Amino acid sequence: MKKYKDMSKDELLTLKAALLEEYKEEQAKGLSLNMARGKPGFSQLALSMGMLDEINSSSDMRTLLGNDTRNYGDLDGIGECRQLMADMMEVKKENIIVYGNSSLNVMYDTVSRSMTHGVNGSTPWCKLDKVKFLCPVPGYDRHFKITEFFGIEMINIPLLEDGPDMDLVEEYVNNDPAVKGIWCVPKYSNPTGIVYSDEVVRRFAVLKPAAEDFRIFWDNAYCIHHLYKDKQAEILNILDECEKAGNPDMVYMFASTSKITFPGSGIAALATSPRNVEFIKKQLTVQTIGHDKINQLRHTRFFKNIDGMKAHMDKHADILRPKFEAVLNEFDKELAGLEIGSWIRPVGGYFISFDALEGCAKKIVAMCKDAGVVLTGAGATFPYGKDPKDSNIRIAPSFPSVEEMEAASKIFVLCVKLVSIDKYLGEE
Ligand code: PMP
Repeated sequence: MKKYKDMSKDELLTLKAALLEEYKEEQAKGLSLNMARGKPGFSQLALSMGMLDEINSSSDMRTLLGNDTRNYGDLDGIGECRQLMADMMEVKKENIIVYGNSSLNVMYDTVSRSMTHGVNGSTPWCKLDKVKFLCPVPGYDRHFKITEFFGIEMINIPLLEDGPDMDLVEEYVNNDPAVKGIWCVPKYSNPTGIVYSDEVVRRFAVLKPAAEDFRIFWDNAYCIHHLYKDKQAEILNILDECEKAGNPDMVYMFASTSKITFPGSGIAALATSPRNVEFIKKQLTVQTIGHDKINQLRHTRFFKNIDGMKAHMDKHADILRPKFEAVLNEFDKELAGLEIGSWIRPVGGYFISFDALEGCAKKIVAMCKDAGVVLTGAGATFPYGKDPKDSNIRIAPSFPSVEEMEAASKIFVLCVKLVSIDKYLGEE
C-alpha cells in the first residue's frame, strides 16, 4: 500500500472519491453503534446472574464470623469480602477497606477528604494557594473530571509504553510541594492498555516528594482483566515497594468488581497502609454505619475465593477477545503501513487507543457519528478535554457485538482515511 504522504494530489483526490462512495454506502445503512464507554456487554453481565441465586429468603445471612449482614456493623467490610478483595489486589487484608459499588466514588471521596481535612494531619488542600496533580496522558477522563471539579491544576505527563515519563514525574514530585498527587492506571491503562514496567513501579516507590502529603492514586481497575491466558501481565506490588523504600503511606490503591460482576452493583475497595486506613476510618465512621454487606456476602459466596474469581475472568476474556480482535484486525488490514495512525495492541483492559495524524481526531469522531458510530469525544482522554495535538481517540469495544464491532471498525477506518487525505490535500 502506498503511503498517503507519498501520493500526488491527483492520486489523493481519486482515492478520496472512491472512499467517499464507500462512506456514503455505510451511512445509508443507518447503523447505530456505541463504542463510547467501557461497559460490559449483555452476555458478560449474564455471567454473574448466578450470584443473585446465592442469597434468597431462606439463606443464612451470617458472615464466617457470625455477624448478621442484614444489620449494622462491619464498617470496613465483612471479613471474607475484605479477604477476597485483598487477594484480588494482591495486598494484605489489613490494608483493605471495602466500600460501596463504585471505586470512582472512593477516589472522589479521597480527594474530597484531602481538600477539607488534609492527609494524615496535613493542611487541608483547600487552604493552600495551589494544589496540582500530575496526569499521565492519554488517561481516564473521569479521573480528570474529579481533579477539575475541585479546582486542582492538572499537569500533563506523557504516558510512554512502559508507564508515565518518570524523569518528568520525579522532577515535579521531588521539587514542587504543590504537587499532591498523580493519577495512575498501572495495568492495562485506560485508554492505551499499556502496563507499567517493574522499573517504573520502583521509581514511583522511591520518589522523594517535596510535599509530605503527596499521594499516588493507583487505580488498579483492570488488575485481573486479561484478554489472553498466555499473556497475563504482572506488575510489581506498589504497596510492598513503597514500604521497602520507606514510603509506606504514599499510595492509595483502588479497585472494584464493576467489570467482574456488575458495574451497577459491584464491590469497590481501597488498599493502603495501616496508618492511612486508620486516618480514613475516622472519617468513615462519621460518613456511614456500613456499606451494603448483603452484596458483599453475595459476591464472596459466588466466587468462594480468588481462584473462583479468576476462572470467572477467563469467561469474560472469551467474550471480549474477539471484539478487540475485530478492531485490531481491521486496523492491521486497512491501516498498517499507511502512516496515518498508530495504535497499541492491548492484552487486557477495556480499551484500544488510536493516535491519528495531528489535528484529525475531532474530525474523525464527528464523521463516525454522522455514519452512526458514537465514540468517546475527542480530547476526553486529556485534562480539561484538551488534547494538544487533537490526535487521540479512545475505542471501547466491549458493549457492541462482534459483528457490530466489525461494522463499526470499517466505518472508523474509512473516516481515518478520509480525514487524513483532507489533511494532506489541505497542506499542499
Ligand atoms: N477506573 C478506571 C481506570 C476505569 O476505566 C473505570 C471504568 N471505566 C473506573 C475506574 C470506574 O470504576 P467503578 O465502576 O468502580 O467506579
